[in-house]
Amino acid sequence: MKILVAREAGFCMGVKRALELAVGRAATAPGEVLTWGPLIHNPQVVELLRTHGVDSALGYSDLGPGKTVFISAHGISPAERERIKETGVRLCDASCPDVVKVQAVIRRHAAAGYATVIFGDAGHTEVRGLLGFAEGRGYVVDSQEDIEKLPELEKVLLVSQTTRPRDGYEQVARAAREKFRNLVVARTICASTLRRQEELAEILERAEALVVVGGANSANTARLTAIARERGVPAYQVETAEELPLEELENYRAVGVTAGASTPNWLIQGVVERLKERAHEKSPAPVRQFFRLSRILVKINALVALGAASLSLFTMLMIGTHPVFNLSALAFAFFATQSIYILNVFADRKALMINAPHRYSLYRRRRGALLVLAGGEGILALALAASLGIPAALLGGLVFAAACFYIFPLIPGRPLRRFKDSAHLRELLPSLGWVAITVLFPLVTAERITSPGAVFLAVFFVLVISLVRSILFGLRDLQGDRLLGRGTIPVLLGRGRSKILIVALLGLLLIFTTLYLAATGWGGYPALAIYPVAAYILTYFFLFRRRIVFEGLFWEVLVDCQFILGPLGAGLVRLGMAACGKGPFG
Ligand code: SF4
Repeated sequence: MKILVAREAGFCMGVKRALELAVGRAATAPGEVLTWGPLIHNPQVVELLRTHGVDSALGYSDLGPGKTVFISAHGISPAERERIKETGVRLCDASCPDVVKVQAVIRRHAAAGYATVIFGDAGHTEVRGLLGFAEGRGYVVDSQEDIEKLPELEKVLLVSQTTRPRDGYEQVARAAREKFRNLVVARTICASTLRRQEELAEILERAEALVVVGGANSANTARLTAIARERGVPAYQVETAEELPLEELENYRAVGVTAGASTPNWLIQGVVERLKERAHEKSPAPVRQFFRLSRILVKINALVALGAASLSLFTMLMIGTHPVFNLSALAFAFFATQSIYILNVFADRKALMINAPHRYSLYRRRRGALLVLAGGEGILALALAASLGIPAALLGGLVFAAACFYIFPLIPGRPLRRFKDSAHLRELLPSLGWVAITVLFPLVTAERITSPGAVFLAVFFVLVISLVRSILFGLRDLQGDRLLGRGTIPVLLGRGRSKILIVALLGLLLIFTTLYLAATGWGGYPALAIYPVAAYILTYFFLFRRRIVFEGLFWEVLVDCQFILGPLGAGLVRLGMAACGKGPFG
């Protein structure tokens, strides 16, 4: 089964903006924070908002002085706004700018004597709000047949609800042109909806069935399902991965996945991941085993631990320690990293539940075994550090102590008072941890060091690629992190600037590498391996941006392989030079 994932799936601009405003205000507003009706038509997100103290107001009686009330992205009518204001609440308007534009068009034309015909769902919040701008001369139609039923009107403005299908609107507009002589047709379907519909049409050309992820009460999600069915493609609307009809879907060779404008990324990811797992279950045995093993290795952080051991090896190759392969230092890197990463996952269960639901279920089911694994590896890592001498033992102890301060609450019972909850330290401290484990540890156990330049480059290389990893995971988890109020680099800088930062960091790394190689001649040749690593990161970064690779477990494998590629390349370069009779092996 081939899975085709829509690039436009997930939160639209208006929903994203409304959620960010609500979560941001919930953290600072003095009194109760409410939304006027559900802020978003997705029960999972509404529940999450509730944990932030943002609840839905059921009517005017819930409002009052001292409270803050959010208007959802769908907007409201002027009369409703006045009534809400009269209750004495602080009003925060999260109406989508695209909806506000439609309201303005209606207001302008109503003032000029036009009647307004809205193509939309009569009961939908957005349409009720738009009607309020029509000065009592508003009509709602759902099809071209409804146009015939309208009374004779002298001057008519035709608008569409922002999430309606373009084809349907064009049909209604044709019927309206025949009926009314003085007609203005406004283009009011929003850009996000148009892109979503265009992409859906492309997917429907190639897919035999479609999965639409979204809330059961979300109109635009239902609309996507209806479009697919109208074109004769079986469509299944689900809220979560658990609702997938896997046995039915197995009968199709290609399944498309799209989502409504109010569906968070993590729910789409969960659905895609589940479909992929099912597709792999039907593969030949070796392929199935390979994917099963990779999934487990990623979920229990074994791959990232292998990456740490590989980076230690890279440092050893760069600084020319003797003996080159210090197995105890490599084992320390592996055990310490896996132990710390597993403990970190347990300390961050809430975020995991949202950002990586597939991993969360494993940690819930195998909690005891994973805690024993993390504890055992921690003890083993400390024993290995102790066996390598006093400096290594001190550094090993320091790494674990710092990791505990980072992961666990400084004051018991105050879970938010952790270093990892600090916006500025969140990504920087783990990167320093990577440097300590994969560069400083090999350094303190080295018998000789060839050049300080090599040490500097190794430190910078590890800093950059560990930071790039954190930023990429932050980009993947951006929606969830924003809702959880976590201050990651992508949350602080935004998506665009974070991507620029990744490219800038890689650019700096390449400049330093080139300077180092120019200064050392061929003496620093293991550093040549940094070039393919940077090229590799840029390649998968591009695939990720274009959504050719989706942010699932396979994507995590791709990202973590960046730690393994460099040392592998450096080892090959070094062996190659040795074979030519150059370098320390020659
Ligand atoms: Fe705004 Fe379009 Fe999203 Fe509606 S679907 S909230 S109009 S971006």
